[in-house]
Amino acid sequence: MSARIIDGKAVAATLRQQIAARVAVLAFRPGLRVVRVGDDPASGVYVRNKDKAALEAGFDSATLHLPANTTQAALLGVVAGLNSEGSVDGILVQLPLPAHIDADAVIAAVDPAKDVDGFHPLNAGRLAAGQPGLVPCTPKGVMHLLRAAGAALPGARAVVLGRSRIVGRPMAQLLLAADCTVTVVHSHTRDLPAECRRAEILVAAIGRPEMVRGDWLAEGAIVIDVGINRLPDGRLVGDVAFAEAARRAEALTPVPGGVGPLTIACLLENTLDAALARRA
Ligand code: NDP
Repeated sequence: MSARIIDGKAVAATLRQQIAARVAVLAFRPGLRVVRVGDDPASGVYVRNKDKAALEAGFDSATLHLPANTTQAALLGVVAGLNSEGSVDGILVQLPLPAHIDADAVIAAVDPAKDVDGFHPLNAGRLAAGQPGLVPCTPKGVMHLLRAAGAALPGARAVVLGRSRIVGRPMAQLLLAADCTVTVVHSHTRDLPAECRRAEILVAAIGRPEMVRGDWLAEGAIVIDVGINRLPDGRLVGDVAFAEAARRAEALTPVPGGVGPLTIACLLENTLDAALARRA
């Protein structure tokens, strides 16, 4: 078997066009502010891509770039200012933050109605309770990919590899909300390959280059690879050994060009949703 490749760039482009069309008929421009502290180079690339995508879709988007020695109090002050700014609909504080800043305190300071990253404990709690709220962008993007791939979700056995607050946990909640039978596996799981082999849908988010081998997969599985790992030779690979997996899976995302483009598209979707909800 040779897997269908799920084209994240194409799925994200369609979603971005739909968002731009919805924004074009509004009487206002949804406002997004990204706050970046310090000069982490990977964050710089992400933030520029977010800004570009937001402007292309008709948003009022800007990045506030603060120096690496910004104090926690000063950052909390910036967040408070954005919380009270009426034209700002979405606030995203780019992670990681410098070590002297308590990221949890900053996340908790963002107005939950503007929390377009979906990391605020209130939004995490709403997701866990099955209530509507703002949902983290990467797992939300995975759901778009699964639907675009035609995955039959209700009743499907889904395995999520990883249990982080950003990806694994919200991913499991979204799959559960879509009526999958969900298993979450992590670094203490006894027999990872055996757990993965039970999956009709496998979402890998562990940050371990090509750890998921072809023989960990059931024939015909749909495999979504969230991992982004830079190898010493500069190559970018996922958490799944792509060539091996392509021989077993029915459908598979590439890295790059799979989940990554959806993360940004879902940030726009969250910002538009937040803007409409705030102004309803
Ligand atoms: P974290 O490091 O926060 O979490 C990793 C998770 O994987 C943890 O739950 C950990 O288990 C588990 N894990 C780590 N090693 C193993 C192992 N050997 N066996 C089993 N489980 C293991 O990572 P993130 O969730 O933030 O990110 C995961 C990957 O996704 C990374 O490669 C990251 O770059 C990528 N990513 C991609 C995005 C995109 O837009 N495409 C966005 C966000 C992340 P435990 O809890 O037991 O420690």
